[in-house]
Amino acid sequence: RFEVVQQGPPIEVFQLNRMFLEDPHPSKVNLSIGAYRDENGKPWVLPVVRKMEKQMANDETLLHEYLPVLGIEQFSAASTAMLLGEDSPAIASGRAFGVQTLSGTGSLRVGAELLNKHLGYTDFYYSVPTWDNHRLVFVNSGFTNPHTYRYWNAQDRAIDFDGLIEDLRSAPENSVVLLHACAHNPTGIDPTQEQWEKIADVMEERKLFPFFDSAYQGFASGDLDQDAWAVRYFVKRGFELVCAQSYAKNFGLYNERVGNLVLVINDASLVPAMKSQLTWIVRGMYSNPPAHGARIVANVLANKQLFDEWKEHIKLMSARVIQMREALRAELIKLGTPGNWDHIVKQIGLFSYTGLTQRQAEHLVQEYHIYLLKSGRINICGLNPSNVEYMAKAMNDAVVK
Ligand code: PMP
Repeated sequence: RFEVVQQGPPIEVFQLNRMFLEDPHPSKVNLSIGAYRDENGKPWVLPVVRKMEKQMANDETLLHEYLPVLGIEQFSAASTAMLLGEDSPAIASGRAFGVQTLSGTGSLRVGAELLNKHLGYTDFYYSVPTWDNHRLVFVNSGFTNPHTYRYWNAQDRAIDFDGLIEDLRSAPENSVVLLHACAHNPTGIDPTQEQWEKIADVMEERKLFPFFDSAYQGFASGDLDQDAWAVRYFVKRGFELVCAQSYAKNFGLYNERVGNLVLVINDASLVPAMKSQLTWIVRGMYSNPPAHGARIVANVLANKQLFDEWKEHIKLMSARVIQMREALRAELIKLGTPGNWDHIVKQIGLFSYTGLTQRQAEHLVQEYHIYLLKSGRINICGLNPSNVEYMAKAMNDAVVK
């Protein structure tokens, strides 16, 4: 019966990660998967997370009973406040709430299902380029009309702001527009505050619905409030919106699938109806979420001392990324590599869109065992003081060839 099933294409980032793990070469470098690595190239469990886990292991009051369908309320409330700000008027007036989801991807999916099934949205816009799962999640949620908006100007290695505005201006009314809250993946370039204001103007004028994706809060600037600026600005302007939060990167809880879907609506009296429909969406998809990671995040966000400890971890991770950006650019300049490499330090977050062509990226994989996406995107924290010179040499070789 199963002969009808045909092989699907591989997922590039997971394929590269596997090739890296299987590669015996001593100088191999993994710049593919979007996960933090420390200065020795090792995954890092945040000390505050370890501490909580040890505490939880000895806590016999913690059970493995089912969570409610929408998750741990204390987690969602703390997470929503982290995004919108402790003093957010939308929270105070009961117009904003969150539901626990399966990391960022699960939030996107639940949010998209709600917008499609209950509000009848069918058109959505995503940036070119974007995280390669956005389109699939929305299409699988029932959005039948995917559209793109321009984002990247390859020539200048900068945002194509005129293109972006032109594309949003010609979008059909009632389209959903997917916006990266900060640290745009894969380009590492965010709109400036003035540019966000213009985006909001056009979206208001064209009646477009903002769907923010916040997978890197704290990772862009090292500051949680600064990284939430765009979302808070849209809320202040009076937009109704949704936002998918992920704790994969900023808490290093990748495989625990901790996420929160934030909804900001105009009429607080509709919250119970919305929660009931979200309950049915989740019920039919996975029934209820896992507890472990959400308990960790909830406890850390609720305790001032733990929260401060976590903020230090975020600062450390984002500072290391910035150092590696500077080191890579400095090495390229030292080698006299043709071209301008300023964009590497101007970009923010985990990723750099290096500007390497597909041929050059493949050259790095084949000749140097340096694994990166064919778009030229690299995960900066795969670099460390021991391999950054090797990376620069490989880039130089690829560019001059
Ligand atoms: N959005 C963006 C832009 C991302 O880069 C990622 C992670 N790569 C996600 C969402 C979702 O990740 P997760 O489901 O692991 O939280």
